[in-house]
Amino acid sequence: MAEKKQKRIVSADTGKDVTKKARTKVSGKGATPTGSTGGLRFGAIFLWVLAIACEVMALMVLWGKISIGSIPMLYSLIGFLVLDLIFVVIGSQLWKKANHIKPASEKNKFTFWLWNNLGFIVSVIAFMPIIILILVNKDADKKTKAIATAVAVVALAVGGLTGIDWNPVSQEDFIEASEDVFWTSGGTKYHTSQDCSSLNRSEELVLGSVEQATEAGKTGLCSFCEKRDAKALEGEESNTIKLEDIVDSIEEELPIAN
Ligand SMILES: [Zn+2]
Repeated sequence: MAEKKQKRIVSADTGKDVTKKARTKVSGKGATPTGSTGGLRFGAIFLWVLAIACEVMALMVLWGKISIGSIPMLYSLIGFLVLDLIFVVIGSQLWKKANHIKPASEKNKFTFWLWNNLGFIVSVIAFMPIIILILVNKDADKKTKAIATAVAVVALAVGGLTGIDWNPVSQEDFIEASEDVFWTSGGTKYHTSQDCSSLNRSEELVLGSVEQATEAGKTGLCSFCEKRDAKALEGEESNTIKLEDIVDSIEEELPIAN
């Protein structure tokens, strides 16, 4: 079996690399992003909860409520902060991955912002309280406070910066992308899917409108893509009929109340 290579996709408008944005494009008209995001989001939230738990543990260490064997207080404190950071960062990566499969709509500005910055917010929750509590703590000595604060501040910065989605995608991007087609500089046809089997050997694809494809000398839609899209459309229609049939049959079977 030939290995699937990651293709590079450039925009016909800007010539810029749009591989990330176009990667999840499916095919055909009204294409919607596929793939389950439930597991990714659950994983993200689970890891974030673990991160907050580590923050609480760090606090317990700071307040002298717990001690880990003979490990000095400062080291256990740093240990929990590092774990805290690891969980925050991995959680954010899962969350961002989910956003790139199932993005929020740009129409709701707040949700869109929240979805793409949730990793940053969690990072603030995971480090800000402990930074403040270290600073106001009266029992710890100056050196411990200085080192612990520095570690927590760096962790906050790393967690925050890696938590933000710097290249967010929206539902609208997906819709836009689904109206675009792919082509290669050498080919004679354009394609509705970057996964078209006739593109297997191509390393760089151009993404643009049908008009741009025509301008670039492409004579029409590739026959593989045409067949696949027709099939997909048929599938959608037959699904609709099926659902209607089920509703009809249920209605028929229901005894009429009188
Ligand atoms: Zn094709």
